[in-house]
Order: sequence, then structure tokens, then C-alpha cells
Amino acid sequence: MNTRQIQCFGCSLLCDDLYIEFDTNGILHTIVNSCFRGTRFIKNYLSDQRIRQSIQKQMGLDMLLSTEEAISILEQELLKAQSIKFYGIGAISYQDQLAVMQKIVELKKKNKTVYVDGIKEIFDFFILFQTTIGQAINNADLFLFWECDPTHSHPKLFGKLLFSRGMFRLSGKEMKKLIIVQKQDSDLTRLKDILIDRSSQTTSQIIKNFINLLENKSLDTITIGNLSRDNLRELKAFLEATEYGVLVCNTPLGDYFQPDELNRYLARLNASGKGRFVFLPLTPTSNYFGMYAAYTKIVGNYSESVTPLKDGYADLAIIFGGEYLRDEFSRHPLEIPEKKVILFDNLKSNYSNHARITIPYAIPGIECDGTAIRMDNVNVDLSLWNSPNENIYTIQKIFNKISL
Ligand code: SF4
Repeated sequence: MNTRQIQCFGCSLLCDDLYIEFDTNGILHTIVNSCFRGTRFIKNYLSDQRIRQSIQKQMGLDMLLSTEEAISILEQELLKAQSIKFYGIGAISYQDQLAVMQKIVELKKKNKTVYVDGIKEIFDFFILFQTTIGQAINNADLFLFWECDPTHSHPKLFGKLLFSRGMFRLSGKEMKKLIIVQKQDSDLTRLKDILIDRSSQTTSQIIKNFINLLENKSLDTITIGNLSRDNLRELKAFLEATEYGVLVCNTPLGDYFQPDELNRYLARLNASGKGRFVFLPLTPTSNYFGMYAAYTKIVGNYSESVTPLKDGYADLAIIFGGEYLRDEFSRHPLEIPEKKVILFDNLKSNYSNHARITIPYAIPGIECDGTAIRMDNVNVDLSLWNSPNENIYTIQKIFNKISL
């Protein structure tokens, strides 16, 4: 039996403290220290349901293809399409992302319109990013969870942040303060020190009132959710006493925060008292920041490189699957308006039923090496421990074989 420590690629927390036991045939026996999401991620790719050969849909039937045949179809479709949209690039490794970006540059040189789903949002908020998980664990004394609940999307994050330094109250509660801004109850609700119900106020209204509170305006003129005057005083005392505060938000921010509004809010929090507030984004896919790094390295600046699509959808969608397609905790279900789809995925789903071809690929951190950039912008290595069968290539290898 082999035992080794592995890096989980199940969400953007990219935990590096998992252990697995597997036998000489590569059969997995035990996973230790994984959350439910990480365990499901690892088991999915080792399951009997795994797609092991490319599939082409023809007259409703599944035709099996060799990987070379699938690559040839992918190549033809890329050449035929005038506009192409890529989904899920944030769910693959940095090496895979670089290879895809190289092809995007070649497609653009052929005057094709190319979209990368989610890239605009990263350009909007990337500048806000200011902390690491280690800093948040070791230094933070206040967390402000704004309309987000990581207990399902990033299951081990909460424990790492809050229950890591052993500074517990007699009640068993950790000394870090927890302020929650939300519209409806979540699994965090009962742990709050202060709960701000924002269901009757917009983000802008709450921020304006936060600022008025910090500027010592009369409490009679301040409304923050349903907080009483005593609660408002307590909130002010918490904010002013904070040595190191972390504002945690889901990304993309666009649904509830404008990036410049968030930036001004952070600046204002930092202007008062002795505190320092930083931002920690909960990104929707495991390697969202890798997508930003690969895009800026190979394609360039967002504003220079993307042209709006005329009809709102492209001739062809290329989708990278994995957790991106099955993420029940994502803020929005993935909508793909494109009529022609080429799918990279390892399990059958509704998406594969509608895809022209479905191509399985090697999973970074299980079946191939790679790198990913964690939600706090720290690079981590993903290592192979279970070789895939010979029909399954990495995305990097597939895209390197495409000739345009
Ligand atoms: S929190 Fe995320 S990275 Fe950590 S074990 Fe769970 S799924 Fe994997």
C-alpha cells in the first residue's frame, strides 16, 4: 500500500493537507482529511462512470472516437467558427491554461472573435486582492463575511481561518470577531457576533451608513440592516479596534458590489482607527487566478483583446468541465447559449448530451502534474499519483496538437 500527501484541486482553497492510500494497481483505498467536496472530486475521476474515450454524438447515438480523431474535429470546428467562447478555463491547471491561451492568440490572428467567460470579472477585482490565507489565519482578528457562506463552496476555509490559533473564549468560541452581512440565513448565521440583515437595503446604502457610523454621525441618522443603537455602537467599537480585518466576498463581485465601490469601502475602513482591512475573494473555480495570470501573460490586457459578440452568443462554445459544470454551490447555474458545443469532461451530464464531441482529459493533481494559483494568489504544485489510460491526454497536450 502506498501513502502520500496530495494537493486537492476540488475548490480554490487548494488544500495541501490531504493524505491518500492506494495499492500498487493505483486503486484508491483511503482519503484522509478531505472535506465532502474534495472527496467527491477525487472519487468522481476514479469512478466507473468515468468517460475513458472521446464521444461524438451522431443521430442521437454515442460514437467512440480516438483522441486523435477528436482533436481533428476540434481543429476543424475552431477553423470554421467565426466567434468562439471558452468556458471553465478557471477549472484547469496553469499549464493547460497557457496552452489554451496560445491557441486563443492564434485564433485572434485569424480575425476570429474570442471570448473567455469570467475574464472581465477578474480584471475588475484583481487589484483589490490583498491578503494570503496564512496572514488571515495568523493575524486576522475580525472577519466580515459579505453575502457569502464558504461552508459548502470552500468547506475547509472557515475552519482554517477561524479555528486555527487556539485562542478560544471560555464559551468555546474563538476570539476572532465575526460580522455577517446577508439577506437570508446561512450556516454561518448562528456563529455571528453581529448579523446585518441587508434584505431591505442595497449594498451602496449599507456602505454609506457604515461610513457615516465611522465618521461619528448621529446614530439616529444611521440604518444598517436591523441593528439597534446598541448594536451600532458595538459594530463601531469592533471596526475601530480591529488590528487586521478580512472582508470575504464571493466573486464575481458584480451581483452585489461594484469593484470601485468595494475599493472605496476598504479605503474608508482603513482610514479610521488603527485597523487594516484586506480583501479575500471566494473564487468560483479552483484556478480562477491562474486564468488571469495565463491570460495576461499570453493574450494581454483585457480591454485590448476582446470584441463584443454581436448576437450575444458565439458560433462555437468550448467548455472545460470538471467541477465547473457540477458545482451546485456556484452563484449562478452555467448557461451556455451557443448551439455548437465541444466539451472537455470526464463524466456524462446534460452538457455531454448536447455536445458535438466530449473529450476526457487528465485531471491535474491526480493524473498529471500542474500548477494552480490559490484564491489568495499563492502558487501551488499539483502532482500526478494515478496515471490515466493512454487515450486520455492532458488539455495542454491536446491544444499543443491543434494546428490552425
Ligand atoms: S476545501 Fe476545497 S481544496 Fe480543501 S479539501 Fe475541500 S474541496 Fe479540496
